[in-house]
Amino acid sequence: MGSAGRPYESGLPRNGLQVLAAGRTLLGATMRTIVGSVLLLAFLVAPGTTDAQSRQALADAARAFDESALRAEDNSAKPMPVRKWMAPVRLSFANRSAAPGLVEPSRQAIKTIAAQASIALVDLADGDSSANFVVYFDENGLNGRSGYCFGSARWDKAKVITRGELRLNPTRIRDFDRCAIHEPMHSFGFLSHPHAAESVLSYVFKGQRELTELDRHLIRTLYDPQLRPGTPAPVASQTACRILAKWLNTSTGDADAVCSARTGPIVAN
Ligand SMILES: [Zn+2]
Repeated sequence: MGSAGRPYESGLPRNGLQVLAAGRTLLGATMRTIVGSVLLLAFLVAPGTTDAQSRQALADAARAFDESALRAEDNSAKPMPVRKWMAPVRLSFANRSAAPGLVEPSRQAIKTIAAQASIALVDLADGDSSANFVVYFDENGLNGRSGYCFGSARWDKAKVITRGELRLNPTRIRDFDRCAIHEPMHSFGFLSHPHAAESVLSYVFKGQRELTELDRHLIRTLYDPQLRPGTPAPVASQTACRILAKWLNTSTGDADAVCSARTGPIVAN
């Protein structure tokens, strides 16, 4: 019923207060009767509602993890193993003179993600050949799609990410900040998009220009030491769900109910 960190009592006073506020236009005994019965109703209904909401929040977060980190791409549920950085990111800009004003926003966005992942970030001079994470300012885009920004990752046989590359389009003046935070998420191991989730990776929430609370949970989960690079999707899906349950303060019972049957990304249609 109740769960750690999500006090059982919290739903009741809140519901009770709403009832009292709504009841102020009523008088005397009528008000007390209504408030009394509604409070009783709240008492009967609230615990179940809280459980259902708690399970739904965890199920949504677990799905967002599977869709962003454990599948090949948006249109493919092909399961992919955990891919992540294990060593410091060594960051270099290929052509910072092409957009000097965008260097710092780009760097800060990458740094924000690296901090959530507990991966150190080392700033290198332009053109340093020891860089493993390179940002290009590119007005032309790739594949003839000039307005686009791109982020990619390369990994080795052990599924450790060894290189990240961003192509950020400086002509995206209205939403460059979104490019700057969305694309490095791909380079950190979230290679696909959880469109239904309130995430900077969703195309549905396309106005999202900074990490959401869910994004921070997703990053901390992927970079939790329990999730080793190369962990197959079905196992990773359950482990990630358990880690997310901790971040969401979900009770053990609710986590059992949501996590134990997870098998990884589901085919949409
Ligand atoms: Zn993307």
